[in-house]
Amino acid sequence: MNPVVLSLAFSAAILASLLVKFWLATRQMRHVAAHRAAVPTAYVGLITLPAHQKAADYTLAKLRLGIVDDAFGSAVLIAWTLLGGLGWLNEHVRDLVLPNAGALAYQLALIGAFALVGWVVELPFSLYSTFRLEERFGFNKITPSLYIADTLKSFALGVVIGTPLLSLIRWVMQAAGGLWWLWAWGALTAFQLGAMVVYPMLIAPLFNKFEPLTDEAVISRVQALMARCGFRAKGFFVMDGSRRSAHSNAYFTGFGAGKRVVFYDTLLERLSGDELEAVLAHELGHFAHRHLVKRIVVSLTFTLAGFALLGWLATQPGFYLGLGVTPNLMAPDNALALLLFMMATPPFMYFVSPLMAAFSRRAEYEADAYARSKASASDLVRALLKLYEDNASTVTPDPVFVKFYYSHPPASARIAALGLADTNLVGAPA
Ligand SMILES: [Zn+2]
Repeated sequence: MNPVVLSLAFSAAILASLLVKFWLATRQMRHVAAHRAAVPTAYVGLITLPAHQKAADYTLAKLRLGIVDDAFGSAVLIAWTLLGGLGWLNEHVRDLVLPNAGALAYQLALIGAFALVGWVVELPFSLYSTFRLEERFGFNKITPSLYIADTLKSFALGVVIGTPLLSLIRWVMQAAGGLWWLWAWGALTAFQLGAMVVYPMLIAPLFNKFEPLTDEAVISRVQALMARCGFRAKGFFVMDGSRRSAHSNAYFTGFGAGKRVVFYDTLLERLSGDELEAVLAHELGHFAHRHLVKRIVVSLTFTLAGFALLGWLATQPGFYLGLGVTPNLMAPDNALALLLFMMATPPFMYFVSPLMAAFSRRAEYEADAYARSKASASDLVRALLKLYEDNASTVTPDPVFVKFYYSHPPASARIAALGLADTNLVGAPA
């Protein structure tokens, strides 16, 4: 691989993705600002003017922060790669750790040091987003002490989970010879599938409290819905989402008959019984259509292709040199290759994201259609609009921005697809 060609292609991808991001963000900002003055006719009576304007202001504030973050992120990426940041870090960590603690410790230390620097560099954005932006719109409920506790727990988890996983992958990289990438992919896949089973039971409770739902009326309603849809659930839980944020949600976790339904406390407060039922019917629609399984298959296919590419790139000196790093002569390059690969792919993969978003939006339409067949479409629409309001999501996004990024179709498209475009929802019983 020619290092100069790689440097140029990488720079071009960073620049192109940044330009497209800016272009899309300004489109969205213009569109939202232009519709800020009045509630669109389709939503009169469903959304209040203050709520509509709050959504516009929140969307604009997030886009502005996003533009700064994107520009900064690209600068950091260039500093790590083309300007030699990772090469510098590698030399120091290698000279410090390798002679004293060996090859495995060196590679773990390199990845750890990289993650730590990355966390510090992004910290101002995270703090500003949580304690300024989310706070300003009344969403942030997290206290500084809880923020610190969350951070420490995440660090500890990263070490406890990351160390054995990286050791395993590194061992596979050395033991399996030329096809190591296939084995490493298998190990990562097994780990990810295991994590999906373990996460709701062991990890989520570290961050939130899950209490059994006690509202009998809601339970019997949800059980009736699930029976109608041919599902069984093992338990119904309420999660204290309000501890951190006023954003609301509901989800299913687990597999087969072990499914658990988790409601954010914020959601139970906001929705009526009918609306809750419609939202859950939508979530069950995702299960009925096996969207999760399909997403896992797609993601595993992408990872496999990624690992195959990494397997080849790791042996190419031009891959390191083109991204500003001198490969190690006397030490293994695996950790270095992994980090470079993780940084080099996103600018290229950015242009694949509209495909993934379209895939996801199609799944949302299918889940909506399922909800319509098992519950009431107008209840679903009312619930959606409440959630839009609670999350200050704009109902007037730019269509091109939607195509590129939205994992969920905009409200107007979902309402139209539910066949309610011309129905006056205002007069319908609540
Ligand atoms: Zn959905």
